[in-house]
Amino acid sequence: MGKIAVRQTAIMSDPGGTGRFGEFGGRFVPESLVPACEEVEAAFRDAWADHSFRHDLDSLLRVYAGRPTALTPAWRLSAELGVTVLLKREDLAHTGSHKINNVLGQALLARRMGKKRLLAETGAGQHGVATATAAALLGMSATVFMGERDIERQGPNVFRMRMLGAEVVPVGTGSRTLKDACNEAMRQWVSSTADSYYCIGSVMGPHPYPWMVRELQRVIGDEARSQCAAELPSAVPDYVVACVGGGSNAAGTFAGFTGTSARLVGVEAEGGAAIAFGRVGVLHGFRSMVLQDEDGQITEAHSIAAGLDYPGIGPEHAHLNATGRARYVSVGDKEVLAAVERLARAEGIFCALESAHAVAWVLRAAGTADLPSSSTVLLVLSGRGDKDIEALAERR
Ligand SMILES: *Cc1c(COP(=O)(O)O)cnc(C)c1O
Repeated sequence: MGKIAVRQTAIMSDPGGTGRFGEFGGRFVPESLVPACEEVEAAFRDAWADHSFRHDLDSLLRVYAGRPTALTPAWRLSAELGVTVLLKREDLAHTGSHKINNVLGQALLARRMGKKRLLAETGAGQHGVATATAAALLGMSATVFMGERDIERQGPNVFRMRMLGAEVVPVGTGSRTLKDACNEAMRQWVSSTADSYYCIGSVMGPHPYPWMVRELQRVIGDEARSQCAAELPSAVPDYVVACVGGGSNAAGTFAGFTGTSARLVGVEAEGGAAIAFGRVGVLHGFRSMVLQDEDGQITEAHSIAAGLDYPGIGPEHAHLNATGRARYVSVGDKEVLAAVERLARAEGIFCALESAHAVAWVLRAAGTADLPSSSTVLLVLSGRGDKDIEALAERR
């Protein structure tokens, strides 16, 4: 090695006090929210270094959320594609996706901070359901902001949240969808920081959230790393592939493999592909790649998968893309629908439309230079497809 020590932040490490990942991230919030963000950061740093907090979280993940989730070899699909596919089964986690990992961690943190209420925003309702679940488990109250249009589209999840005891607050401003719900949740937080904790659902928002949520989702990558070591002669897969909305299941998985030779691939929805079609901008408290028009107005994302319907992407992904450590691709709705069915029939696993983006890319790329024959692939199934039955039935 050279003699000159170059100071360089290791990839996917602690972003420090500024919360920057290269030129991305940061904390772009009104002055009145800075102390609340600082309080969360200090509390998380303290908790994350505390064995008893880690122990409490680990045991909840085990006895309540169903971890570790399985690593399932996709035998028939692998034979058909000529690549070895291993599925990381977040679809088996309680509430049906990886979101519970993050929410249990933040709910425990909120309780440790003495907060009584969890605030959250939700689009498809998955993060809202996970938050309502954690609140019920820990005896806290939950207030979930949701755009009026999403409330109309996601009836079953709204019902589920209310059954769990959460208050669902309709947001009628703007496009009446997720980004308006985010704005409203932040506004509520400003006026209630003394007793309320803002629980963000992905690797987004002002520092410390993108880093904290990645750390809370790291359990996916850490488990998969040791499961792959037991399963593969090479110990490490050649490729790690995950879908990206805000990017939490991908970030948590990538974090387990950054120090390895594995190639990291994030798959966005074509209609919400912030890396492919976005430009640098600020959204909901952080700088990243954002879908916007010529005047810098945030534009709407459109995807069949409501969980990927977000015009931005977590700042660390923008950085991983800029440095070349990870690669980002996108697939369209038609490929996604075909992928759900192909996986269901080949393996007996009915995955979420979001997860099917990652599956679709593997189907497309297998046997090409992007994913050569005989490669080994860790493919994250972020969630199960039960919630998508209506949307799928309409399309068939
Ligand atoms: C919410 C959701 C996603 C997208 O969120 P990320 O933060 O990008 O992981 C993906 N899959 C499922 C099943 C989801 O519920």
